[in-house]
Amino acid sequence: MNTMKANTMTSTNCKTCRTHLPDLLLDDTYTTAHPELGTHLAACPACAAELNALRSTVALLDTWSAPELSPYFDSKLRARLREAQAAGPEGLWERARAFLLFSTGRHLRPALSGALAFAMLIGGGTLGVVLHQPAAPASATVNDLKILDNNAQALQQMDQLLDESTSSADDNAGPPTT
Ligand SMILES: [Zn+2]
Repeated sequence: MNTMKANTMTSTNCKTCRTHLPDLLLDDTYTTAHPELGTHLAACPACAAELNALRSTVALLDTWSAPELSPYFDSKLRARLREAQAAGPEGLWERARAFLLFSTGRHLRPALSGALAFAMLIGGGTLGVVLHQPAAPASATVNDLKILDNNAQALQQMDQLLDESTSSADDNAGPPTT
């Protein structure tokens, strides 16, 4: 009976002791303000070991010093930020995929990614191609085609002008004498 009572007392005290571990860790005089924690720590080896482990961890962190930054860190970071800003916005497909992967609706994520995979399976990739049309590579290709078309039109117009000038020169020279 006595041991049972002592055990239950220890377990409840352990709970409060563990919640006060940060205070005990950061404030050495905390046990003088809360002597019941001091007596518990003296009687309970588990809590004392926990506190000691935390103390050794903090002591180890005190000895660690952050490595020096490279002197070009700031300029490199700014250059990379400028690159990211200059880069065009991602396509609709990419944004939808990122939203599904990284959105905070964690409970929806498996269902949504499953639906996405299903849609890709059914569409055989055609859905992705359709949604991916406004992306950068496609527009570059379209621009190239437009430039080629413009060049062809310009060449055609030049040919027409040359034909007209030669034909008008022939007219000025008069009709053929045969
Ligand atoms: Zn304890």
